[in-house]
Amino acid sequence: MHSLPKEELSQDFRDYNIMDCTNCQPKTCRVSGSCGIEKFNSTEVIEDYLEPKNQIILLAAASLVDNGKAGTLSRLQETILFIKRMDYKKVGLAYCYGMEKGAKLMKEKFKAEGIRLRTVSCTVGGINQDKINASSCTEKVSCNPLGQARELNDEKVDFVIIMGICLGHDILLQRNLKSDFTTFVVKDRVFNNAPLKAIS
Ligand code: SF4
Repeated sequence: MHSLPKEELSQDFRDYNIMDCTNCQPKTCRVSGSCGIEKFNSTEVIEDYLEPKNQIILLAAASLVDNGKAGTLSRLQETILFIKRMDYKKVGLAYCYGMEKGAKLMKEKFKAEGIRLRTVSCTVGGINQDKINASSCTEKVSCNPLGQARELNDEKVDFVIIMGICLGHDILLQRNLKSDFTTFVVKDRVFNNAPLKAIS
């Protein structure tokens, strides 16, 4: 049962019983605890966090921002520190072939930090589009996110950085990776890989 007065609930919650935190006025969750609208069981969530496999990630993430570090590190610096903190031994870079220049620079940056990246292009395997897309009759080489995932899994990486993989292909890649992963670049073909520009 929610604890907010009806008039303070967002319109979407009142009309459709769906969350709309963007239009919540009191934002009690940010100051004084649960508003009671959420459907999950908080006790179960807390138990999940306390599992060692989640604690270790949580602590590594906190180390990037605690003690005044928030706002001082670029995403690149954060990624390097996170890898070191997690003690990932084998790190992969799954990149879009269109961003190869950036991928090379990334490899150099990581090398200088003592991290050897396994770099795998989206075109790995050189499979033609008409072989994997039932509606395609082009013989051009296709992006191959399933091959990328297999290659990185075969390398037994324990962490993958994702750079510019197309929407949809990123789902296939992420679904099939057996390691932890993070996205370093989101592809946006119109807004120079900065999707927020579309809503600003
Ligand atoms: S979770 Fe927070 S922001 Fe969302 S409706 Fe509840 S109090 Fe408001």
